[in-house]
Amino acid sequence: MHGFDEDTEDLARAIVEYARARIANAVPLDGPAPADELSRRAGPTITPEGIGGEEALRVWAEILAPSTISTDHPAFLAFVPGAPTKASVLFDLVISASSTYAGSWLEGAGAVWAENETLRWIADLVGLPSSAGGVFVSGGTAGNLSALVAGRHAASLARSGRPIRWSIAACDSAHSSVLSAARVMEAEVLVVPSDERGRLTGPALRETIERSDVDGLFAVVTSAGSTNAGIVDDLAGVADVCTERGLWLHVDGAYGGAGLLAPSVRQLFQGVERADSFIVDPHKWLFAPFDACALVYRDAALARTAHVQQASYLDSLNATASWNASDYAFHLTRRARGLPLWFSLSTYGTDAYREAIESVLALTRAAADEISRRPELELIMDPDLSVLLFRRRGWSDDDYESWWRRVLDAQVAFVQPTSWDGEKVARLCFVNPRTTIEHVRAILGTMA
Ligand SMILES: *Cc1c(COP(=O)(O)O)cnc(C)c1O
Repeated sequence: MHGFDEDTEDLARAIVEYARARIANAVPLDGPAPADELSRRAGPTITPEGIGGEEALRVWAEILAPSTISTDHPAFLAFVPGAPTKASVLFDLVISASSTYAGSWLEGAGAVWAENETLRWIADLVGLPSSAGGVFVSGGTAGNLSALVAGRHAASLARSGRPIRWSIAACDSAHSSVLSAARVMEAEVLVVPSDERGRLTGPALRETIERSDVDGLFAVVTSAGSTNAGIVDDLAGVADVCTERGLWLHVDGAYGGAGLLAPSVRQLFQGVERADSFIVDPHKWLFAPFDACALVYRDAALARTAHVQQASYLDSLNATASWNASDYAFHLTRRARGLPLWFSLSTYGTDAYREAIESVLALTRAAADEISRRPELELIMDPDLSVLLFRRRGWSDDDYESWWRRVLDAQVAFVQPTSWDGEKVARLCFVNPRTTIEHVRAILGTMA
């Protein structure tokens, strides 16, 4: 199985053709089948003799792939969709074929160099100084955790003695992964109430801190694009409080960070340049395949001291001054997961990205107008970025639940309701430049 014989040659052709067709052609949305149905249809696949690559590929293509929703379908508007560029997907195949170890400079210099070029481009969009740097991790969850661990490390260097309990301030609209990171770190979360648009603001943060008796507050997490409503926090106001109190400012742009490229919304991000750490997920609105989160620190050298692993078998890596990508997050072995974005940016240029993001923003505004024109629907608020929340007058919670199942069964779209202020509402999240107003009209038509 490590040699390349005639059977491997045939399998290579079949796999490359399958991948080519998947990249070239429109695919249906599809949807999940029950586990017992998959077991029955696929039969045993892991056997002592093996079923052969051709058969395993058939099982994948005919049975398993149709039981995975196509996140890049233009009518996938649930959660946060994906919309990888053609070049990014193609290059992902190259990375898979190359056995590249991108943890250290010694082993992966070329890959790490290209990832660093990409991280520098992101740091420049944010407005971070030349001391900035970081690494690509698997997703926003891993990025938030690694950033907060670095923030706590910085705080522990700055103070004498441990607090009774470390704590992190975050808004009730912050992503669920922030609570998860706090649990892992055994840190407390000081929850700041959001304003009427779901934003964390400087005044609310200041007031919450003043009223609390936490001792070990070290960081504030702020969203540059909340997942639920796509709202950008009052970054400048939050940054002021962080400066006053010597707190680490972490800006979570996992979904919305791509908006930094778009002149029409750039002013919403004022203050982002004061971040101590920043994340954006290329697999969301920067058109890269799963999975990738760009994690950038203002002071990369400081973050390194929080994360670098020490062991005799790593001594020769740590002895040199070269850039070991592993040192900047909670991981060691890593795929060169920043390279699909690097290749795609190199291929198309940053202007193409700016235009694609602006086109998604323009579609979101057109969809908001379309909702406002329909008497049975009501927009909850004007969008900051590319998420729309709206209610269908007269609908119960159950109506929203049966609605999304109905539109998926009919293969019209994949959508998910959410809640806003305790009320179940409809939500659409746009990141795919191939989504059109016709897709939106078809979805709204199912709510008439
Ligand atoms: C999606 C998201 C995350 C989590 O990112 P994963 O890549 O799913 O781990 C964190 N924060 C925000 C704001 C997000 O939208």
